[in-house]
Amino acid sequence: MTKRRPDETPEQPAVRETLVSRACAWCGAPVGYSGNGRPPRYCSGAHRRRAWELRSAQDRADAPVDAGGRSPDPVREVVLRTETVVRSVPVAGPPAPAVRLSGAPHTLPEDAVEWVQALAYLRRTAPTHPGLSPFLQQLARACERTARVLREADTALAVDDQAQE
Ligand SMILES: [Zn+2]
Repeated sequence: MTKRRPDETPEQPAVRETLVSRACAWCGAPVGYSGNGRPPRYCSGAHRRRAWELRSAQDRADAPVDAGGRSPDPVREVVLRTETVVRSVPVAGPPAPAVRLSGAPHTLPEDAVEWVQALAYLRRTAPTHPGLSPFLQQLARACERTARVLREADTALAVDDQAQE
């Protein structure tokens, strides 16, 4: 119902707009309006609650971080990177296995006890061993050179020990 102002002429149409419905602010469904009171913003209580939950959650997220808010910084990870490098390093190891005339490998004595046992075996068997007896002089000279080198090395070690005291 519109009141016409007194100076309006009947020929001029009066224009009046009346809200009939509006879209639900959550789902967009049309919500009828009866004309009484404030127009409804939602089609249902459920959609009003969902909209309120979203607003209040956003408010909590936007609060300062020390007040429980969400940090605006990007998520960072600490990654420990371990790089493994494989390289070959020559190290002093056991002597390479010797090779017999037949081509078969054999090992040398590995410690002093085994060397002493090997030399004792040489002493016992060389005089009658058919493979060694032709070379007794060569074996004897090799043993003498070996004995000389061992004594010289031992003397040098003793001098080192005295120098360190
Ligand atoms: Zn709705």
